[in-house]
Amino acid sequence: MAWRSSGATNEALIANLERNKLIQSERIRDAMLKVDRAHYAPASPYEDSPQPIGHRATISAPHMHASACESLLTYLQPGAKVLDIGSGSGYLTAVLANLVSPSGTVIGIDHIQLLVDMSTTNMGKSEEGRSMLDSGQVEFVKGDGRKGWKEGAPYDAIHVGAAAAEHHIALTDQLKTPGRLFVPVVEGGRQHIYVVDKKEDGSLERKKLFGVQYVPLTDAPE
Ligand code: SAH
Repeated sequence: MAWRSSGATNEALIANLERNKLIQSERIRDAMLKVDRAHYAPASPYEDSPQPIGHRATISAPHMHASACESLLTYLQPGAKVLDIGSGSGYLTAVLANLVSPSGTVIGIDHIQLLVDMSTTNMGKSEEGRSMLDSGQVEFVKGDGRKGWKEGAPYDAIHVGAAAAEHHIALTDQLKTPGRLFVPVVEGGRQHIYVVDKKEDGSLERKKLFGVQYVPLTDAPE
């Protein structure tokens, strides 16, 4: 089902994701309708599959973006602060910004400057995107996402768009209490999505969801 949601247009893709129950929340549907994937994916933007964006990175498949939003949804209320690690194309950063608007903020962090520039350009292709950048609702920064981004902490939600080889303590340290981290984790050569909740008392609860295939979270290329 995950791969059968492609459409001829952004609207058709999202309608198919909804029909296949990959989008369950109207808030997520509306946020995804506001962001045209063609501004972020250089080819086949409305196919439900990952697409290369250069620099060994990919824009994740639409059903994975939907699933990440579904998993974090409780923490994506208007006004929330969000960190999107491995922001790549900037697509998910833009969708997250729509979910937490009008008063929320999202920081997208990537360790490749050309991708930081590309995500800013991509978002600038729409009037709404430009105004989110101008107002500071969205900011793209360059840095090693394994350390989080303490300048914007604490966050209600942190999304990681690349697979982590270990538990990066900085990420849960930078969550609010309560707050939620969505992270693909490599274990024994396989990757699984984990959702880590930081509870009111500061304790952590980890839940393993499903198998995935992401670009690894690595050292920056030379
Ligand atoms: N959410 C993005 C996914 C891009 S692919 C999208 O859908 O467009 C994963 C991204 O993680 C790449 O852009 C890569 O440059 C970035 N990345 C890998 N390791 C990183 C690190 N240590 N810090 C920050 N970004 C990293």
